[in-house]
Amino acid sequence: MKLSEILAKADKPLISCEFFPPKTDKGEENLWLCLKELQAISPAYISVTYGAGGTTQDRTKGIVTRIKDETGLSPVAHLTCVGASRDELAELLADYRAAGIENILALRGDAPEGVDRFEAVSGGFSHATDLIAFLREQGDFSIACATYPEGHPESAGGVADDIRYLKLKQDNGADAAVTQYFFDNDAFFRFRDACRAAGITLPIIPGIMPIGNYDQIVRFSSMCGATIPAWLHEQMRPISDDLEAVKALGIELAVKQCRELLQAGVPGLHFYTLNRSEATIAIRNQLTDLL
Ligand SMILES: Cc1cc2nc3c(=O)[nH]c(=O)nc-3n(C[C@H](O)[C@H](O)[C@H](O)COP(=O)(O)OP(=O)(O)OC[C@H]3O[C@@H](n4cnc5c(N)ncnc54)[C@H](O)[C@@H]3O)c2cc1C
Repeated sequence: MKLSEILAKADKPLISCEFFPPKTDKGEENLWLCLKELQAISPAYISVTYGAGGTTQDRTKGIVTRIKDETGLSPVAHLTCVGASRDELAELLADYRAAGIENILALRGDAPEGVDRFEAVSGGFSHATDLIAFLREQGDFSIACATYPEGHPESAGGVADDIRYLKLKQDNGADAAVTQYFFDNDAFFRFRDACRAAGITLPIIPGIMPIGNYDQIVRFSSMCGATIPAWLHEQMRPISDDLEAVKALGIELAVKQCRELLQAGVPGLHFYTLNRSEATIAIRNQLTDLL
C-alpha cells in the first residue's frame, strides 16, 4: 500500500522499521527471521536502505520486492542521487513500477567511502529536493524524505536551512518526512513547531535509535550530527563494556523517549533496527497503552 494512504488511514500512531541490505547469506537469513518476528507488532511499513554510491542497488531492489511478494508488509525503497544520472534513475524507477513498489524514500546520499564530499554526477541531481521533483514526474510513487531536527552536518545556516529545504521537499511532492535519530525530545519539539510555523504540514515521523552498543552510537552520532546529551553519556559510559546492560538501558531509555513523543502527538515512530528485531519489539510492547 502507498505510504500516503497508510498515513491518511491511520487512526493511531504507526510503527515502522528500517533495515539495510545484508552482505552475507547469514545476514540475509537473519533479515528474514527479524521480519517474521516483527510481524508480531504489525509495522506499518518496512524501509530498506540504499548503500553509498548505489552499492546496494540490486540488493535493495531484491529485498523490497521480496517483502512485497512474500510478506504482508508494505516496503519503502530508499533511493539516493549518488553516482546516478537521471536516465539511470529512470530505469531503476521503471523496474520498481514493474515490480509494484509504490514507496520511495528520496535522499541525496553521502559520498562513497574514501571520497570527501558529495558531488552530483553529470546528468544527476545535487539534492533530494531535485530527486523528489523528478520522482513526481516519473509516476505515481508515494515519496518520503529525510529531515534533521538538530541540523544536517553540512547545513551552514543550521536548522533554519533544514526547515527551508524540508518545505521545498514538501512543495516538490514529498508525502512524509522521517527524521535523523535524536535523543533530546525538546530539540525535536522545537523543530516540529518551527516546521509548522514555516507552513510544513506533512507528517514528521521521529527516527528512534535504540542503543545496543554505546561506542557504536558515539561513532555514528559524530558522523550524522546527532547530539548525545550529557545525561546519556553519564548513564551509558560506566556500563559500556557490558553489552547486555547497555541493551537493557537502551530499551528503557527508548521507551521513555517514545512515550513522551507519543503523548505529544507524533504520527508514528520509525525504528533504526540495525537489522535486529529484539529491541524494537521490546519497546513496542511497553507502549501498548499509547499505540
Ligand atoms: C531517514 C533517513 C534515511 C536515510 N537513508 C539513507 C540511505 O538509505 N542511504 C544513504 O546513503 N544515506 C541515507 N541517509 C543519510 C543521508 O543520505 C545523508 O544524511 C545525506 O548527507 C543527506 O541526504 P538528504 O536527502 O537529507 O540530502 P539533502 O536534503 O539534499 O540535504 C543535504 C544538505 O544540502 C542542503 N540542501 C538540501 N536541499 C538543498 C537545495 N535544494 N539547495 C541547496 N542546499 C540544499 C541541506 O541543508 C543539507 O545540508 C538517511 C538519512 C535519514 C535521516
